Amino acid sequence: MARLRRREVLAAGAGGLIGASGVAARATAAPGSRSGASYDVIIVGAGLSGLTAAHVLRRGGRSVLVLEARDRVGGRNFDVRLPGTNGAVAELGGQWAGPGQTKVLALARRLGVRTFPTYAQGQSVYFHDGTRRTYPGSVPPASPAALADLARIIAGLNAMARTVPVHAPWTARGARAIDERSTGEYFDSVASTLEAREIARVALRGVYGEDAEMVSLLDLLAAIQGVGGDFSTLIGSAQSLRFVGGPEQLSRRLGARLHGAIRLGEPVIEVNWGRRVTLVTPTGAFTAGRAILTPPKPVIGSIRFEPELPAILDQLLQRQPMGAVIKINAVYARPFWRAQGLSGAVVSTTGPVQLVYDNSPPSGVPGVLVGFMEGNAGRPYLSLPAARRRAAALACFARYFGAAAGRPTAYHDMVWAAERYTRGAYSTYNPPGVLTSFGRATAAQPVGPLHFAGDGTSPLWPGYMEGAIRSGERAAAEVLRSL
Ligand SMILES: Cc1cc2nc3c(=O)[nH]c(=O)nc-3n(C[C@H](O)[C@H](O)[C@H](O)COP(=O)(O)OP(=O)(O)OC[C@H]3O[C@@H](n4cnc5c(N)ncnc54)[C@H](O)[C@@H]3O)c2cc1C
Repeated sequence: MARLRRREVLAAGAGGLIGASGVAARATAAPGSRSGASYDVIIVGAGLSGLTAAHVLRRGGRSVLVLEARDRVGGRNFDVRLPGTNGAVAELGGQWAGPGQTKVLALARRLGVRTFPTYAQGQSVYFHDGTRRTYPGSVPPASPAALADLARIIAGLNAMARTVPVHAPWTARGARAIDERSTGEYFDSVASTLEAREIARVALRGVYGEDAEMVSLLDLLAAIQGVGGDFSTLIGSAQSLRFVGGPEQLSRRLGARLHGAIRLGEPVIEVNWGRRVTLVTPTGAFTAGRAILTPPKPVIGSIRFEPELPAILDQLLQRQPMGAVIKINAVYARPFWRAQGLSGAVVSTTGPVQLVYDNSPPSGVPGVLVGFMEGNAGRPYLSLPAARRRAAALACFARYFGAAAGRPTAYHDMVWAAERYTRGAYSTYNPPGVLTSFGRATAAQPVGPLHFAGDGTSPLWPGYMEGAIRSGERAAAEVLRSL
């Protein structure tokens, strides 16, 4: 992580420590949150799920310590300040919310973080087969046959999703056969036009950050149920609101209210568990009655456990990967596309950037475009030099909005797959066969004193801030019951 943020979360500090990035970092800990001290609960990870769990446990009267590997809180919420503005940011991680996301919106209200509507006025851009067209509303001007295919795909998904129990998708009728199919195979079986197959794949990448061939159809149906039963929610209304000043503030404000119970720059490298649990970091060992682990599954899999985790869980951790997303924000003096009657939104069947939105702050100044390289469309760029990534992204923006879009005043991107403590985006997903092969084991069951949270463990709004908060509440309630 390139950027070092001042540790606003900190109240009192224990000694200077070496941060995860190798840069000297001050731990954010209250007196007493020292190596060797003992707690009721230690939480690994100061993202939204971990911080939510910490608050619930504190309210339940329990002593809590949060160990965070990075030198900042927020995890996959990460905002970059735009200089010369009154606190405007470019979000490089999570950013949108929408109707039905009751927990994250309530949290924002409680913490005094206001929301504003995503800018969506004017015509959007559809780029297909080398041709750029603009269109009003939310339905791209694909061929009538492709639009009919897309309508069939969505209706089919929504109808199948209704048969899937959201808390136990592996028990659905015919679950095995559904789970063995990839979403890509489903798209191809329903759509007769190449154009519809391509658009469906762009939409799926927008949800998972991964290609349709990689994702189990049963996983998608469960996700549809988890957001209220309509596939369109995943790519539509779930993106209708943004947070003034960015969603990272939610974590920073939650962190500040924990009054020094967070230690930054403390990557947990070993977990010794039995009746109690001891978490080892490069600076020491911390013991508790229970631990809640919130990192993404592949990151948990890279921690050493003593004794080893049960084989079924270890195997599962090897099979639930993160998607591959590069998120880009290009900043301009003004949102010049608005003056041309454009909303800033793009759907393109040509990569590497296939989805773009207006990401300007509420004032509209500066203008910001956000774009995504996802799954196979972005994979070749994961290991290319930053300059090649930037050139490819800006070439896409210029293709959609003209030469001016290729000359931003500032450019920010983030390769989430290269983030050691995240390892991809947007979240974990189940490849074909995993949900039904592992069944109940996929449901984040506690193991001895170890509990699991994180957006990917939430049946409702999995992969969203909403899911992260819900998972933190669930894990904390589990712990309170068990103590
Ligand atoms: C590019 C991108 C765009 C997104 N867009 C949206 C969106 O528009 N709307 C939305 O709702 N959601 C979005 N999301 C998802 C959202 O950001 C996540 O759902 C949410 O932030 C997850 O919170 P979490 O606490 O579960 O996990 P995380 O935020 O990943 O928190 C886990 C924490 O654990 C820490 N950690 C990892 N390993 C260790 C270790 N060994 N020791 C100690 N600490 C460790 C990490 O540093 C991290 O802080 C997006 C995510 C990304 C990456």
